[in-house]
Amino acid sequence: MKNYLLVLLTFSLIPLEMVAQSAGPKEATSYTRKANSNILSILDFSDSTDYVNARRGFIATYPEDHIGKAYDLSQFNFIKGQAPAEVNPSLWRQSELNAIAGLFKVTDNVYQIRGFDLANMTLIKGKSGWIVIDPLTVEETAKAGMQLVKQHLGDFPVTAIIITHSHIDHFGGMRAVLDEKAIAEGKQKIYAPDGFVEHAVSENVLAGNTMGRRAGYMYGNLLPKSTTGSVGSGLGTTTATGTSAIAKPTDIISSEDGQQKVIDGLKVDFIYTPDSEAPAEMMFYFPELRMLVQAENVNHTLHNLYTLRGAQVRNGQKWSIYIDRILARWGDDVAISIGMHHWPTWGNTEVRNLLESQRDLYRFIHDQTLRLANTGLTPLEIADSLALPEDIDRQFSSRGYYGSLHHNIRAQYQLYFGFFDGNPANLHPLPPAQVGKKYIELAGGSARILEQARKSFDLGEYRWVAELVNHVVFAEPNNKPARELLADTYEQMGYQAESAPWRNFYLSGAQELRSGVSKPKETISANKNIVADMSSDLFFNYLAMRYNGLQEHRLKHTFNFNLTDTDEKVSLILSNGTLHPRVGSHAPKNVSATITLPRSVLMTLASDPKNADLAGLEKKGTVKIEGDKEAFTALLNNIVNFDKMFNIIEP
Ligand SMILES: [Zn+2]
Repeated sequence: MKNYLLVLLTFSLIPLEMVAQSAGPKEATSYTRKANSNILSILDFSDSTDYVNARRGFIATYPEDHIGKAYDLSQFNFIKGQAPAEVNPSLWRQSELNAIAGLFKVTDNVYQIRGFDLANMTLIKGKSGWIVIDPLTVEETAKAGMQLVKQHLGDFPVTAIIITHSHIDHFGGMRAVLDEKAIAEGKQKIYAPDGFVEHAVSENVLAGNTMGRRAGYMYGNLLPKSTTGSVGSGLGTTTATGTSAIAKPTDIISSEDGQQKVIDGLKVDFIYTPDSEAPAEMMFYFPELRMLVQAENVNHTLHNLYTLRGAQVRNGQKWSIYIDRILARWGDDVAISIGMHHWPTWGNTEVRNLLESQRDLYRFIHDQTLRLANTGLTPLEIADSLALPEDIDRQFSSRGYYGSLHHNIRAQYQLYFGFFDGNPANLHPLPPAQVGKKYIELAGGSARILEQARKSFDLGEYRWVAELVNHVVFAEPNNKPARELLADTYEQMGYQAESAPWRNFYLSGAQELRSGVSKPKETISANKNIVADMSSDLFFNYLAMRYNGLQEHRLKHTFNFNLTDTDEKVSLILSNGTLHPRVGSHAPKNVSATITLPRSVLMTLASDPKNADLAGLEKKGTVKIEGDKEAFTALLNNIVNFDKMFNIIEP
């Protein structure tokens, strides 16, 4: 009887759903329109300060719409004037500001290239040339910026490169300004925070494949740029694509109490701020210019205490302490403050206001989350109830265009308590597909769930619909009405989101529910120039992570490596499906094979082990294997590569 009913319902619903749920972007519903227009009464949209500042000092922009294949300057031209119903007006405003691009004069001898990439490039005229701060993500966009500088400001050598932190949008384009000869002669210096190279290289390695896929969602890389697609990242427009590289710093900043340097004739006071927005970061002050460089610790947005691509959570208390340290030291003197994203802030009062509100923002989230956690509330309860104090909340620079209050609160809980909220019901829950099947069974069939979900959709209860229908999609990934309803739901949630990464996540999910997963685009994390800079320790641990420990898990071997190009000895122990590298020495006994080869060759072999021509390399003398060759081949064959476009919104 039960099965019979289920069949009937399914049949009666499918044709209806298929008519109602055509593919492709939909309009905003009345609930979305209402939610989006509510924000107009909360924030002061008549305040044009940010527009004035984002345009102040404009000199020129790139003469063409496209910087080669690297970046399209016209892709966000549609963001002008009043927000369409399908975009949160606050995010629309921020996106319009982020798309203002060109070469700008900040003050005498200080210039910025903005909107040519995700981040800004700053140039300061020193005694004999340019001091360049953060040369963008890729060489191509940094070159285009330098070309504009040369044309409008004159041709001067780059005497120093300052890298504020270890994220690729701040150093990847380094080769456009790097002069190896000048470095060798001491005429060019590279300043970076302690741990810069290590963190720049390591952050995207061990968890890189999944981070890359999720970053695609977060930045909306697979979405069209449109009023129903991506409107940018909230932090800036979007990343450029092209050639990234990294170079070793000549000078390291490592003091949290301050470190003074004279760079091309200018005094610079640095403060090292590790474990803030990035694991290796620094902020600094030019006393003669009365100018602060905020790095990415101060922005015209609430940043991420947790980044949705997936990364270790950040500590809001530490972050806040660093900003307070800056205020205490230079707060009375500072006249201008520049960020590595967004536009500068001019005027002592204005800079102080920005610094104070950003300081308070991160501490409020950190401290109040913990206060409430200590009363026994769990992450979702805190995230749904805690609001910012009105005076911070109403400032555009505190809004969650990049981070969000909701996920940052959950991040601070996670920082101290981890994934488990203490409720035994959440200790051993069923995985998504299984729990989905159980909910369907409970409801008397998926059609019943969809019927209820449709009613909730019509009431604008999108968070609830997402929860319900997600169960159906995971239990029945081919259920077209379920996919369509979930896509429609994510879409409305995306339209309402003030955070660009939230919008991009929801709309990417909707797109893949409707059209499936599309072909991979080239990702920055796969860049060879950066992979080659891995330490041997990191590289062998990367191999250990890629080793399929379930295959032939009883094998026990010890391999010794002579890496001829890096002049290193490494031993690698295989035991119970795990690999243990010992960099710096050879195992003295029970060695299965000793392999002599350049590390670069091992990297190539390991990048595609299935197609590695080991015999050919041996013949040429590039690789020498003494001992059990088969054991080494088996080792290589068990190192796997990953699918870059794995499923997210379905099993
Ligand atoms: Zn950045």
